[in-house]
Amino acid sequence: MDTFMTVRSYGRNCREANRLARKSLLECEDLISTTKENSLIYMLNEEPEKGVKTGVEICGLVDFSIKMAERTYGALNPVLFPVTRAWGFTSGNFRIPDEQEIEELLKLVDYRNIKIEPAEDSAEKAEFRISMKAGMMMDLGAVGKGFAGDRVLKMLSLAGIECAIIDLGGNIQVLGNKPDGSPWTVGVKNPWGGEPVCGIKVSDCAVVTSGGYERFFEGEDGRRYIHIFDGRTGCPVENDLAAVTAVCASGLYADSLSTALFVMGSEKAVSFWRENRDFDFVIIKKDAAVLYTAGLKGKIFFTAGTPAAVCVE
Ligand code: AMP
Ligand code: MG
Repeated sequence: MDTFMTVRSYGRNCREANRLARKSLLECEDLISTTKENSLIYMLNEEPEKGVKTGVEICGLVDFSIKMAERTYGALNPVLFPVTRAWGFTSGNFRIPDEQEIEELLKLVDYRNIKIEPAEDSAEKAEFRISMKAGMMMDLGAVGKGFAGDRVLKMLSLAGIECAIIDLGGNIQVLGNKPDGSPWTVGVKNPWGGEPVCGIKVSDCAVVTSGGYERFFEGEDGRRYIHIFDGRTGCPVENDLAAVTAVCASGLYADSLSTALFVMGSEKAVSFWRENRDFDFVIIKKDAAVLYTAGLKGKIFFTAGTPAAVCVE
């Protein structure tokens, strides 16, 4: 997944558990990588109309992504790959496509054209076929690490581990409490470097951040183009946000939310939270203002350099 990952588990069986966790992470790559040849999603993107056959796990993931796309009115969009690829985010050969090119590519990003149906020839096994319209390409990059995190924690738990903390390229997920029985403390990075902006005390929880500071390039026009895209414009998101951290039990949900809320910008993100209230967030705006949701009261503490944070009720 083009990042560093750390799994730290505590308990008697931790060596074996960590080995299983590593295996589970590598399997995720074989399923959902867009760039690894012969991964499931790679094959889907090679022949979108023919599609690929797969089991309930990946179908569930794709189905979840479609539902989140619907719930967020397309802020999360699992088929933006033709666009992000044209901008060079998959290869590192960054470029700014012209308007006409973007307009053409935007015809390929309608997530309602993803089809999931029972696979014809596998009556006994619960198998499905995922297919899309010609030219479409799927990218589960916005949810992949959360999906992988949930998978790893389940694996660790089955191996008898009760305390663990995993860091999948900045997605932090914890199992249980710390070995001493107290909650874990997860720091939220300062987008401009230095000390974390705040710490959050959590147990059995995912703390997932999407930020404009993570991956970007600078155009010849001097502007910064980031890796999170707006599916309506076909361009990198440019709004009032520097970073969004989503906090909830599910890594998959948190990952989808951090990306979607980032695309929405602060005002819409706050409204979305008020309508749903099944997660928490910490938002850091470009002007360094910090917003956090009421559910974090008593769990969140700020470091000295952080300007007064506002609690959203
Ligand atoms: P994250 O770091 O979880 O916010 O996910 C960002 C990654 O998801 C990018 O590197 C792209 O591969 C992909 N992506 C970019 N914009 C979107 C979007 N609006 N919806 C879904 N995936 C996206
Ligand atoms: Mg995400």
